[in-house]
Amino acid sequence: MSESNEVQEGAMSEDDVIVRIKDLHKSYGDLEVLRGIDIDVHRGEVVVVLGPSGSGKSTMLRCVNLLEKPTSGQIIFEGADITAKGVDINGVRAKLGMVFQQFNLFPHLSVKKNVMIAQQKVLKRSKEEAEQIAIQGLKKVGLGDRVDFMPSQLSGGQQQRVAIARALAMNPHVMLFDEATSALDPELVRDVLAVMRDLARGGMTMIVVTHEMKFARDVADRVIFMDGGVVVEQGTPAEVFDHPKSERTREFLGHIS
Ligand code: ADP
Ligand code: MG
Repeated sequence: MSESNEVQEGAMSEDDVIVRIKDLHKSYGDLEVLRGIDIDVHRGEVVVVLGPSGSGKSTMLRCVNLLEKPTSGQIIFEGADITAKGVDINGVRAKLGMVFQQFNLFPHLSVKKNVMIAQQKVLKRSKEEAEQIAIQGLKKVGLGDRVDFMPSQLSGGQQQRVAIARALAMNPHVMLFDEATSALDPELVRDVLAVMRDLARGGMTMIVVTHEMKFARDVADRVIFMDGGVVVEQGTPAEVFDHPKSERTREFLGHIS
């Protein structure tokens, strides 16, 4: 092992682990979708998850966010087992912000109200405070001039940025992105990726499922390749993209030598 690896391991101590996925299994009936996933995510780290369709990426993220109940295994978030009984699911979800392929905005609420509602309901912020935070957040994602629009008046890329602002307004400690740009027209992808890049630069801990290889290469601290419900390999972008260890990774990346 090289010295640089040792330095990196030293810098990422056990204390820095913010999300620990431990031997995560998930089955739907007879279909075993996750077959023992172990992933540690460190504070401030950007982890990009790659893998073919059906490999279990969404299911894994949904388990982390408690949208799915693991069949077995644990999710440890900031030192506490959030899969244990009696956990405040809404409180946990606020801290683990999630952005989906489909933006899921409320169509009958203005952009601003979409960003306010969970702040008021879950965090019990006053209307005034929620509004102020919503406007600030919308400015940050480049939508300061759209706060009173309805979702239907925005492009897909703008709607996705509203969804990001909505998650950020909850002061999440981790952001989960599940193919956030996959439903967008190509010309709209860039602005959403730019917002995600800014977040990463600002030190946000992120788990990002994406097919955007350039984003993965530029922004990821670590790339994880999943297939068939397991982690096949992981490493730095350079390791995984330039020197994939597994045949399956090579095939997926399309440079079988
Ligand atoms: P990915 O996000 O990598 O494409 P998914 O996690 O969405 O993979 O799905 C993994 C597998 O689990 C697929 O075979 C999918 O059909 C199955 N699956 C996902 N959700 C459900 C569900 N709610 N009920 C039954 N099967 C599901
Ligand atoms: Mg998916």
